[in-house]
Amino acid sequence: MATGMIFDIKRFAVHDGPGIRTTVFFKGCPLACPWCHNPEGKKFTPEMFVRPARCIGCGSCLPACPHGALSLPTGVIALDRERCDSCGRCVDACPSDALETVGREVTVEWLVAEIERDRTFFDGSGGGVTFSGGEPLAQPEFLIELLRACRVNGLATVIDTSGYAPADVVEAVAGYAGLFLYDLKLIDDDLHRRYTGVPNGPILENLRLLASRGARVIVRVPVIPGITDSEENMDGIARFIAALPTPYPVDLLPYHRAGSDKYARLGLKYQLVETPVPPQARMEGLAEIFLRYKLQVMIGGERYGDVAPG
Ligand code: SF4
Ligand code: SF4
Repeated sequence: MATGMIFDIKRFAVHDGPGIRTTVFFKGCPLACPWCHNPEGKKFTPEMFVRPARCIGCGSCLPACPHGALSLPTGVIALDRERCDSCGRCVDACPSDALETVGREVTVEWLVAEIERDRTFFDGSGGGVTFSGGEPLAQPEFLIELLRACRVNGLATVIDTSGYAPADVVEAVAGYAGLFLYDLKLIDDDLHRRYTGVPNGPILENLRLLASRGARVIVRVPVIPGITDSEENMDGIARFIAALPTPYPVDLLPYHRAGSDKYARLGLKYQLVETPVPPQARMEGLAEIFLRYKLQVMIGGERYGDVAPG
């Protein structure tokens, strides 16, 4: 049975697809978006969250580490990530939850049993399970086996994806997934490469592929001031979606800073500290662009305006 690397399971989620959902976060993503609110989902291997503010300086963790990666240079814990292999031995030694291992390998069987625990909530709300991340398509064997098991068990599935994956993986996943929440960030390839580290060609091609198959998709566009929020970018994305065989609905997701504190826990710098949250008026102005292309549009999951007939 396939195994996969996940970093979290969130129960009772209401923003990750229809109804009440259990969201499973896959660990590892080929993109490097600086606005990502799940930075612990970027690496494909386990890593350590360190919370110095919780450290009481007791020193119990120091002898637990086989690599001498921990020290108390200023009276609170410091981690040398070059030495640490995320074995997690220090976590059990800490009395104040200052150390945490993020990421674990699980089997399909174990994960489906975890999802099944929430079935009552799915059945009453039209919900199910959402596979998010990180990038779920980056662990294709694990994901496809999970989707098969969910289908056998009558669990509705949603895939939350960047769309950056080989076409055959997208094709295979489309055979099982009930709905895709599909990110489009930047229509200009140079800008896409600059901000995410990868070209947007495969993402656009895979969306065309899903549309040609009649797959259910909601396109999600993160509105990041100074990066994705130009009218030119929104117009280009709207034009692309309107030309698909299935003109999918669009959800504009306003930038927020939730998750920025997780960068410090990982020893990383959050680059968008100066980026403002876009005001509602700006979001509505951008939503109007999609209405002009006769596309259904939402702002943060809430329907905006009406598509003009004809
Ligand atoms: S996770 Fe393992 S290697 Fe890393 S600091 Fe803790 S005990 Fe040391
Ligand atoms: S065991 Fe926990 S509280 Fe004690 S020094 Fe280590 S990190 Fe700090």
